[in-house]
Formats: sequence, structure tokens, C-alpha cells
Amino acid sequence: MFSSINPYNQQKLKTYRADSSQTIERKLKQADRAFADWSALSIRERTDYLRKVGVYLSMHKQRYAELMTAEMGKTLKEAVAEVEKCAATCTYYADHAEAFLADQSIETDAKHSFITYQPLGPVLAIMPWNFPFWQVMRFAIPGLIAGNVGLLKHASNVFGSALAIEEIFRESGLPEGVFSSLLVDSSAIEGTLKDRRVKAVTLTGSERAGASVASIAGSQIKKSVLELGGSDALIVLADADLEKAAEIAVKSRMQNAGQSCIAAKRFIIEKSVKKQFTELVINQISKIKQGDPTDETTTMGPMARLNLADDIERQARESIAKGAKLVAGGKGTGFQRSGCNVAPILLDKVKPGMAAFDEETFGPLAVLIEAKDEADAIRLANQSNFGLGSALWTQDLDKADRLVRQIQAGSVFVNGLMRSDARVPFGGIKTSGFGRELSEVGIKEFVNVKTVWIE
Ligand code: NDP
Repeated sequence: MFSSINPYNQQKLKTYRADSSQTIERKLKQADRAFADWSALSIRERTDYLRKVGVYLSMHKQRYAELMTAEMGKTLKEAVAEVEKCAATCTYYADHAEAFLADQSIETDAKHSFITYQPLGPVLAIMPWNFPFWQVMRFAIPGLIAGNVGLLKHASNVFGSALAIEEIFRESGLPEGVFSSLLVDSSAIEGTLKDRRVKAVTLTGSERAGASVASIAGSQIKKSVLELGGSDALIVLADADLEKAAEIAVKSRMQNAGQSCIAAKRFIIEKSVKKQFTELVINQISKIKQGDPTDETTTMGPMARLNLADDIERQARESIAKGAKLVAGGKGTGFQRSGCNVAPILLDKVKPGMAAFDEETFGPLAVLIEAKDEADAIRLANQSNFGLGSALWTQDLDKADRLVRQIQAGSVFVNGLMRSDARVPFGGIKTSGFGRELSEVGIKEFVNVKTVWIE
């Protein structure tokens, strides 16, 4: 049995019975059968279906947003925006997928040679709870348009969202088996991934889950894409627009109660502007209104689970024990917390060797790190096992052009909010994972890039 619990008040919302082995077998069979017909459709026919998914999402956005807010605590406003983003991504791929996947002629000494992109089959998607709709849709929309079918294993605390997403595809008219949710825990993954009908896997989550899943996929010679954690730097150089940088830094760090893989987890600031920037950050944090996520005036809801809130407290406590200074969110090592509701924490004097520097911090914890100069800032940014999405603040765009190439990350956003956007690739390096989602690059992750050579 699985339970979804409202993290704001700890009330149980619903329980779900785990899929039996017979149910899993039935869903695998359906996916396998559905793939034969779905992959035989033209891309145009599949995009027509996905356009309908976009319309359906827009029509029902309030209901789905309320479900997400209840299950994992993001503010209703953020949840509505998440559903809208999914709908817009349906339209984006519907408009562009034919061009992305068109055969590509290559000039050789053959009479005709070209590349054609063909789907792989059922793809298992193991997804987290932090963006319960977006994380799934960001794989499913391009994946299905490319002709694959999807089997979702969603995080156990958001099974209501898992079933809602299945409903969206069904109600939009997609044939049975093109997208199904498996209500299983992670112990069922090995058997499912090893099943000959499952051709590939994508996972968004922790390093631990990623390493386990990728090694099972590797043992079966199956393709995997991993989108794991981040501990990304937001670098503020002395010539930055400090007010804007502080506003976006706090937004980037605190949105979704800090539970985002690309949140700005380490603010790295050039010494000469550190004091001024710190004051601006404190001011921005003081504007956050924490509370009931369904209340329109609330800007930060609870964290999604008690153990995640415990983790963030531990990381802050351990960092303070090693010399970090608590500037906001509590006193000494006592934090302002009630259950999953953790007030934004700001730590100063954070250094390598502290949990807040070395580990991924997945909650409302912002940290200030002083850099001697520009070179030191880049060195500190790269002193991480992760490399997902960094940010750089400077008004000198020539300097930015040089520095973005030195930052070890899958993306660098200059003078703006680091975010995922359907038009550009999304993914990481180092222990942040491999492979890319979104854009033309993402839709080609789960295809057979077939070379055809005709003499
Ligand atoms: P997990 O990585 O445990 O969960 C993410 C997904 O992976 C869930 O569907 C989970 O299922 C599944 N999973 C977990 N372990 C395995 C496994 N061994 N084999 C197959 N699937 C598995 O993340 P948590 O929710 O426990 O969060 C822990 C930390 O992970 C966070 O603090 C954060 O640092 C990071 N994280 C990063 C995310 C990102 O966006 N990159 C998203 C979520 C977490 P189940 O729920 O049944 O365990």
C-alpha cells in the first residue's frame, strides 16, 4: 500500500494498492502491443494526438494543479504554471517534431544515403515528486511523438499525479497502452527494466537511484538517460546588477520550497560586493510569505516529505558545526520549522568541506560563499561533483562569453533565471547525469539513428 500525505498538514489524502505481478505483466503486454500500432502512425498523426493532450491539460489545469499542491505542497500558483508549461510543450513539439525527425540526406559516394530516426519501443520513465507533471511530460511528450510508448514509475508519494497523467493521455484519445503508470516501488524496477519488452529507461532523481538504474540498464545493454541532482553555482561578479541578481538568486533558490535540481544552491560572490549582495539577499528572503500553499498570497509552501525536511536541517546543522554562520531562518542551530514547513535558511561563510557546499541541498537553504576574484569564483563553482545548471551575473558580456566556457555544467544562464525550456537541451555532466531532455536533442535520445546507404 502507498499513501499520499498532504505535507502542509500531514493529513492522509489517499492510499493506493501496489500493482500485482499480474497487473505489471498486463501493462507490459499492452505497451508492447500498443507500440506496434503507435509507431506505425506518421509523425503528423502522433503530433495531432499530442496537440489534444495540450488542450486537455489547459482545460483541466486547475484540477491537476490542486492535486499536485495537495500531494507535494507546491503553491497553487506554481502548480498552475507547471500544468501550463506542459501544455505549451505539447504545442511546441507538435509544431516542430516533424522537422526534428525528418530524414536527413547525407552526401556520400552512394546513390542515396540518409539518416532516418525510428522509435525504440516501450521506455520506462522513473520520475520524482518535485515537479510531478513537468518531469513526466518533459520525457513523455517528445518520447511519444517520436513513436515510443511510455511506462511511468512515479515517486511513491505522488501516485495521484501518476494516475492523473495516465488519465490525461487516455481522455485525449491516445490508444490504450501508449502511456501507463505502474504503481510499484523501486524494488520492482529491476525485473521491469530487465524485461525484454522494455527497451530503454530515463530517470530523474537522486544519484543513488540513478546509479542503480543505470547499472541495471547497462547489464542489459539498454539505453539510459539520467537527470540527477545539482549543486549549482550562481556566480555574482563585482560588476553585476546586484539588485536583480539578488532577486533572481532568491527566486531560483526558494521556488518550489527549494526542491529543484537546477535551483541556485551555492551563491558565489566576489569579495568586493559580498556585503552589499548579502543585505539584498536578506531583504529578498524577508519578502517570502510561507504558509498554506493553496492560499493565493503564499509564496512558499512546505517541503514534500518529513525526511526531506530532516535532511535539510541536518545539512544546515552540520555546516554550522564546521563554521558556517546562520543569518536567517533560526537561531544557533534551532531552525524555524513545523513539520514539513521549513522557513528559508540563509548561511554565510560556507566553504568546501561543509555539507551545504559538498552535497545537493534540496530545500529552502541558501548559502553565501566568498570568492577572492573572478578566477576564484570559477574555481569554487567547479569544485563540485555536480554540473547541471549554473548562473553567472556580470554586465560585461565579453567576459561572460569567456567564462561560460570555463564553467562545468550542462547549462549556464547569464543575467537570468536558470530554467528548463522546451526549446533548449536540458541535462548535466559529472554526477548530475548524462543525456539530454527537451529540444531537438532530447527527442533524439530515444530513437534508432538509422543509416541507410543505397548503391
Ligand atoms: P529518489 O531518487 O529516491 O526518487 C526519485 C525516483 O526514483 C522515485 O520514483 C523513486 O521511487 C525512484 N527510485 C528510488 N530509488 C530507486 C532505485 N534504487 N531503483 C529505481 N528507482 C528508484 O529521490 P528522493 O525522493 O528520495 O529524494 C532524495 C534526494 O534526491 C533529494 O533530496 C534530492 O537531492 C534528489 N532528488 C533530485 C531530483 C531532481 O530533480 N534531480 C528529484 C528528486 C530528488 P520511490 O518514490 O518509490 O522511492
